[in-house]
Amino acid sequence: MKVQCQLCPKACVLEQGQSGNCRIRINIDGALRSVVYGYPCSINVDPVEKKPLFHYLPSSAALSLATVGCNLHCIFCQNWEISQASPAEVPAYDCPPEKIIELAGQHKCPSIAYTYTDPVAYYEYTLDTSKLAKSHNLKNILVTAAYINEEPLKQLLEYTDAANIDLKGITDDFYRKICSATLKPVQDALIATKAAGVHLEITNLVIPTLNDNPDQIRQLVRWIRDNLGSDIPLHFSRFFPLYKLTHLPPTSPETLEQARQIAMEEGMDFVYIGNIASKDGQNTICPKCKKLLIERSGYTVLQNRLKDGCCPNCNRKIYGVWK
Ligand code: SF4
Ligand SMILES: [Zn+2]
Repeated sequence: MKVQCQLCPKACVLEQGQSGNCRIRINIDGALRSVVYGYPCSINVDPVEKKPLFHYLPSSAALSLATVGCNLHCIFCQNWEISQASPAEVPAYDCPPEKIIELAGQHKCPSIAYTYTDPVAYYEYTLDTSKLAKSHNLKNILVTAAYINEEPLKQLLEYTDAANIDLKGITDDFYRKICSATLKPVQDALIATKAAGVHLEITNLVIPTLNDNPDQIRQLVRWIRDNLGSDIPLHFSRFFPLYKLTHLPPTSPETLEQARQIAMEEGMDFVYIGNIASKDGQNTICPKCKKLLIERSGYTVLQNRLKDGCCPNCNRKIYGVWK
């Protein structure tokens, strides 16, 4: 019997024994099964800043996990060795949700991050672990491309505390040609995440020649500002030549700095540069009085001057969850 997956806009129709476009959801005897449930291929303790989340529980550790597989196939994928693999190709741990909660406790992590590949593809594992985490007073963080249908997203957001969502480009053409996806569902998911009261930050990987045109960056920033607000932290991340784009150079520091300048010109309050050393591209500055609030070097917080989530100089409230 055929089944149709309702999880993401790809809407795969699967014959008996066939797996979906994400490689990890299979029609077994007429029922759709997530074959990676409880089998992460990566588990690490990361600083939350590495997600990247710069305005969420700074300096805390997030137990970070992923399974193989992804419902997108971005030709620039920086984690392609696991995202574009099948379960049989990568060793995995036997780690049901209970074990993840136990590990978070052992490593003193206040949060669990579903990351590296895409928690949308390993949805059931993410959802069940998130529910259990909540009952143990742990926070849940999604790091995702958010290519997901409205209903399953709504259900997952009930248990999600923070999200870093990739906005990979601002044209449907880019999403179709480069990511094997479409733009509108991602925009809808961004709006739904913000509306659900989840702490939100956005990452844009800047790729030479593909999405680094200043006009496109301006368009992307304007969409964020006008639909989500100027206080959403925005991370421009450096591309390294991997997967199908080994012929391109890494993003230059100048291009990243230019993207940051454009975003600040357009009125974004918190704009960061990632995957590269930068003099002040990782620092949080007060949008009102321009004083330094949080100084970072890479993923490390060197000083945090915030007082009760506000600037100590002018008392401006700073978007985030600080304790
Ligand atoms: S989640 Fe996987 S199986 Fe389901 S529609 Fe998307 S790509 Fe297809
Ligand atoms: Zn201030």
